[in-house]
Amino acid sequence: MGLRAKGPADSHLAKIGKLAASIGMDGFAWKNKLVALKTHFGERGSSAFPRPIYVRPLVDIIKAGGGKPFLAETATLYTGSRSNAVDHLETAIRHGFGIEVTGAPLFICDGLTGRDHQMVPVNGIHMREVSIASGIYEADALVVLSHFKGHEVTGFGGALKNLGMGCSSRAAKLAMHTSIRPEVLDKKCVRCGRCFDWCSVRAISQKKPGLPVAIDPDLCRGCGECLIACRVGAIRINWDNDARQVTEKMVEHAMGVWSTKKDVSFFVNILTDIVPLCDCYGFSDAPVVPDIGFAASTDPVALDAACLDLVNAQAGLANSALGTALKADEPKFDHVYPKLDVRLQLSHASKIGFGNSEYERIILD
Ligand code: SF4
Ligand code: SF4
Repeated sequence: MGLRAKGPADSHLAKIGKLAASIGMDGFAWKNKLVALKTHFGERGSSAFPRPIYVRPLVDIIKAGGGKPFLAETATLYTGSRSNAVDHLETAIRHGFGIEVTGAPLFICDGLTGRDHQMVPVNGIHMREVSIASGIYEADALVVLSHFKGHEVTGFGGALKNLGMGCSSRAAKLAMHTSIRPEVLDKKCVRCGRCFDWCSVRAISQKKPGLPVAIDPDLCRGCGECLIACRVGAIRINWDNDARQVTEKMVEHAMGVWSTKKDVSFFVNILTDIVPLCDCYGFSDAPVVPDIGFAASTDPVALDAACLDLVNAQAGLANSALGTALKADEPKFDHVYPKLDVRLQLSHASKIGFGNSEYERIILD
């Protein structure tokens, strides 16, 4: 659904409501159901996360059917403005996600410090069971509202990432990220120290002046954020192996969460402010393509596949991370992250029998 509007009936809120109705949310048996509405409040300093008011039409539909929606989130792995429930709720309110805007209360689903979880069996290649946030597990239904954009490890972030990473406990996030083993290339490192503070657990240091900069493997949580911190490319991971494993494990976690809500889950992606990095950073880069609109499905794999194709169909925006690679109908995030297999989330989902990346696109006015 595109963004053009000729009157109040085409307002973006009305469009999101129509889109939600088109995937069966209108008329669904919401009565008395506790409905986790999973979104992303954005790290403090970021600004590309979905507008809080976009949540409202979904809340209104659920409430009209007698359901009890709540905005659901989980703790981040790294120290930041969302690593415990207190900081997370404060960040959500600062970013406009209070009940007065969205119409729903806020709930951090894995508890005060990210430890409340339930184990769920999954038939993956890496995972046999996954740890998901208790509040997500116990909810009667799930609506996932995701911002579609690029991602420095998983290629893109959309419904699958919000489901797999976003609905998991802290232990699960650690299990996904421990595949990442960054190292500092001494030949490239100019010892500027920029990465020392960037790493939220202070795993990167130079023990003494003159010694190489090194990463303490006992402290490192594998979040991958230092890759962005270093301006000279001196921090690297094994892209073929590390990023691949994180992505595949994330998809298996997504399948685990989805398995608990198969017939009671709905997915809406917001394709505006399509930036190259996730909303977990304390800043947002310029968008790489123009705003596209909104998309929805009951299949998170089909939805992300369609959104990736929509992004690739656009002409790129100048003065963005795309540089001069601005042609329409060419891969975009592949250009920003040439070492990543950007379609891996989709191919791995197919491999483990999760969802369907072959989709039919229905365009609504
Ligand atoms: S991946 Fe980098 S930023 Fe993240 S914890 Fe390890 S050293 Fe720190
Ligand atoms: S930011 Fe890069 S160049 Fe600077 S100290 Fe860290 S690894 Fe070295």
